[in-house]
Amino acid sequence: MDTKALHALSYGLYIVSSFKGDKINGQIINTATQICAEPTVIGVIVNRNNLTHEYITSSQAFAVSILAQETPLKFIGTFGFKSGREIDKFAGVNYRRGVTQSPIVLDNTVAFLEAKVISHLDVHTHTIFVGLLTDAGIIKEAEPLTYAYYQQVKRGTTPKSASSYIADNKEEKIKMDKYQCSVCGYIYDPEKGDPDGGIKPGTKFEDIPADWTCPVCGASKDQFNKL
Ligand code: FE
Repeated sequence: MDTKALHALSYGLYIVSSFKGDKINGQIINTATQICAEPTVIGVIVNRNNLTHEYITSSQAFAVSILAQETPLKFIGTFGFKSGREIDKFAGVNYRRGVTQSPIVLDNTVAFLEAKVISHLDVHTHTIFVGLLTDAGIIKEAEPLTYAYYQQVKRGTTPKSASSYIADNKEEKIKMDKYQCSVCGYIYDPEKGDPDGGIKPGTKFEDIPADWTCPVCGASKDQFNKL
């Protein structure tokens, strides 16, 4: 079996969000899909260990915010590599509560979908939540972010908790002078630098300022390991 075949699947990048009482949370998912048209039903896949899973189970509702192609890696990192049990992911983020009371992200969002859960399927580590569409709208005219663009152009990484995580990816291309974030797996490549973080292409890892942080998850420089 060649699991590289799984890399041929296409995905997007979304924030699925929900609430429990007056608490809200959201997380990155790459699987959100329309299941049928009449009535309009959508589905999302969420790791059972995540706080958002607990909130969807409690509220029986969720919102999907479809991210734009120009979404900064740090924004994705906050929702994708941090836990709502430790930080308030919505601090400093523009959002509004939808008709189900689920929080809809307004920053870096192309469009939103909101649904009431009508069914779910437990699949080992993950749950497929199936929801009846209760509201939807366009937030801004922009290109949606695909998972391929995130990985190939933005060079983002996949947390182990994601449904599409594959344990062996990328290892064969690693050179000696690359460094990897121990928190999220992001690889710093000196040839490419980190232009968004002010690090020019061709900058050795050792020459990066000490206050530089991981562009994906915000981990400090000393949390990187040489490959
Ligand atoms: Fe990181």
